[in-house]
Amino acid sequence: MFEKILIANRGEIALRIQRACREMGIKTVVVHSEVDREAKYVRLADESVCIGPAPSAASYLNMPAIISAAEVTDAEAIHPGYGFLAENADFAERVEQSGFVFIGPSPESIRLMGDKVSAKQAMIKTGVPCVPGSDGALSDDSKEIIHTARKIGYPVIIKASGGGGGRGMRVVHTEAALLNAVTMTKAEAGTAFGNPEVYMEKFLENPRHIEVQVLADQFKNAIWLGERDCSMQRRHQKVIEEAPAPDIPRRLIERIGERCVDACRKLGFRGAGTFEFLYEKGEFYFIEMNTRVQVEHPVTEMITGIDIIQEQIRIAAGEKLRYRQRDIKLTGHAIECRINAEDPYKFTPSPGKVTAWHVPGGPGIRVDSHVYAGYTVPPNYDSMIGKIISYGETREQAIRRMQVGLSEMVVEGIQTNIDLHRNLMSDACFIQGGTNIHYLEQKLGDMFQDKQK
Ligand code: ADP
Repeated sequence: MFEKILIANRGEIALRIQRACREMGIKTVVVHSEVDREAKYVRLADESVCIGPAPSAASYLNMPAIISAAEVTDAEAIHPGYGFLAENADFAERVEQSGFVFIGPSPESIRLMGDKVSAKQAMIKTGVPCVPGSDGALSDDSKEIIHTARKIGYPVIIKASGGGGGRGMRVVHTEAALLNAVTMTKAEAGTAFGNPEVYMEKFLENPRHIEVQVLADQFKNAIWLGERDCSMQRRHQKVIEEAPAPDIPRRLIERIGERCVDACRKLGFRGAGTFEFLYEKGEFYFIEMNTRVQVEHPVTEMITGIDIIQEQIRIAAGEKLRYRQRDIKLTGHAIECRINAEDPYKFTPSPGKVTAWHVPGGPGIRVDSHVYAGYTVPPNYDSMIGKIISYGETREQAIRRMQVGLSEMVVEGIQTNIDLHRNLMSDACFIQGGTNIHYLEQKLGDMFQDKQK
């Protein structure tokens, strides 16, 4: 096992990884930008290295600075968390070439799955069902594009091969709008992701977002840890996640979970990963794979009792998976609410000094956050400042515990989306379960019609 790990990330996930390491008796090195100097995990770290000024490009995305920090501190492995460099195959490669272990899959796996077109092609080959769409990337030939859309049937969605974070997508309802949408998505993708390649998919009108968590070691042992329902989204960004997914026949999920495990073996995938699917009318359609730990991993941890970060570390250290599929028992229900520092009506970021911070507790409540009273949320990064996770024997109990937890939560000095979560936890459709990916936007439209003007 490693003696020292460098954490190449910030915020709640940096603290989460640090906690996993400390429990395992592993020393931590934290790299941070100038504005994150006072962060909780920086203070708790065995060593810390400032790698640059606040802008991510100069710090958390600065590969030479991160690798030099590992060199000077004698760290053996680098955990990339999520976001930043977590799915950057070049970074994984440079880490390995510099003699460190990258806590994640091989650069080849990251590259294959990082490009959504090659990921889909790999899934089709391994027998994972995908959303019907173009065979690979779209060419520049207008006639061919029109023909492809007709074959798929409107509405279609144009998506960037290199897209992520809910960006680089455009829905097209009519042929008249098609070519313009392709041109615009290509231009945007080129600027945002450095890759103008786009592809086309059938736009599913009322799907749910269901994803499967997998763990695999380098010896081709692979398991799946149940699924998560992440359908509560705003602008394709997840707001609430839960596990298991309500109201889906177990045999359907099991069949898909087994396909994912089979794909991991066939592709030689190792580490923690997530297969994302859209689910509509009893069918699953693969949309993409994430080759890293997800923000919403705690809900899976709560219902399986498995620490996903610790397993990532063990796999990276070359250990064999400690669990077989029959060891995985899903017990109870877990829900996660993402707490964002944002204006509750306009959804614009609300950075600043947190003057009061009181988090809930009690049975079945977990809070993953690096925030404390007196902490200043910098304006430079993602607005998510923490997560509340509730666990119950039943979904109903998990909801009740989340309601109680949210009612106790106090954050002052900045604006947050806590009220929205309070509202959603008593929403009749959420309580019933099984809402689709458009539900939240529709509800927000109704709720905030007047306030947003
Ligand atoms: P990203 O990598 O940016 O997260 P994804 O491909 O995972 O992009 O898609 C994000 C979200 O966009 C999905 O959860 C879903 O809400 C929506 N979406 C993507 N593809 C489709 C599709 N073919 N039909 C309907 N909605 C889609």
